[in-house]
Amino acid sequence: MKHETGRWTRRGFMAAGGAAATVLLTRAGARADAEDAATALKLPTADGVYVQAPLPYDPAALEPHIDAATMALHHGKHHAAYVKGLNAALETQPSLRSRPLPALLADLDSVPEAIRTAVRNHGGGHYNHALFWKLMKPGGGGAPTGRLAEAIARDLGGFEAMRKAFSDAAKGQFGSGWAWLVAGAGGKLMIGSTPNQDNPLMAGAGALRGAPVLALDVWEHAYYLKYQNRRVDYIEAWWNVVDWSFAGRLYEAV
Ligand code: MN
Repeated sequence: MKHETGRWTRRGFMAAGGAAATVLLTRAGARADAEDAATALKLPTADGVYVQAPLPYDPAALEPHIDAATMALHHGKHHAAYVKGLNAALETQPSLRSRPLPALLADLDSVPEAIRTAVRNHGGGHYNHALFWKLMKPGGGGAPTGRLAEAIARDLGGFEAMRKAFSDAAKGQFGSGWAWLVAGAGGKLMIGSTPNQDNPLMAGAGALRGAPVLALDVWEHAYYLKYQNRRVDYIEAWWNVVDWSFAGRLYEAV
């Protein structure tokens, strides 16, 4: 549907020309992008069983900032284990398979107690990693643009202040966890961190609850091979691979 809209708009633009049609094209394009972002994390399943998508780039593509061995292990072993753990949990409660994973994570109280912790940890792990891979790209970095940049200026004092606050959240997360840029009520941006595989979709995120816009994995498995204990160096390097275009689309989808 969204592609048809885009095609129709482009035809309209070519026929009508002029500034008004340009605005129409820009708006329709942004809306289509937002729809793409919103659907990007409809995590693939086969017969109701979650299937891990391949990395969207070569494991070596983020070198030298994130090394190929880390990426291969992180995606092929750690993320894969969360997918396996989530499927094992849902095998005992097949009725839950009809509910999208974000909906389960947002309402863990509705998940039977016997598998609640498994869904929280492995389901959170699957969702967080699927998001993380898409928020990076070779040749990334730089700064956000468009509505996300405007919101960062409005709510967080601009890009440099946001970057520092996000890095501080990532450095300050004691032990394993994630740093987040989150869009809360009314699209207001917030920064914080969560332990383990928790995320801002979960009620337990408290004031940080909302829609993830940017996510950084600060588990040691995300950086130990290359950076050993130097989490700070990993965080600084990671800014060079951020896909701001995808983050911007996540924000526009809110
Ligand atoms: Mn990880």
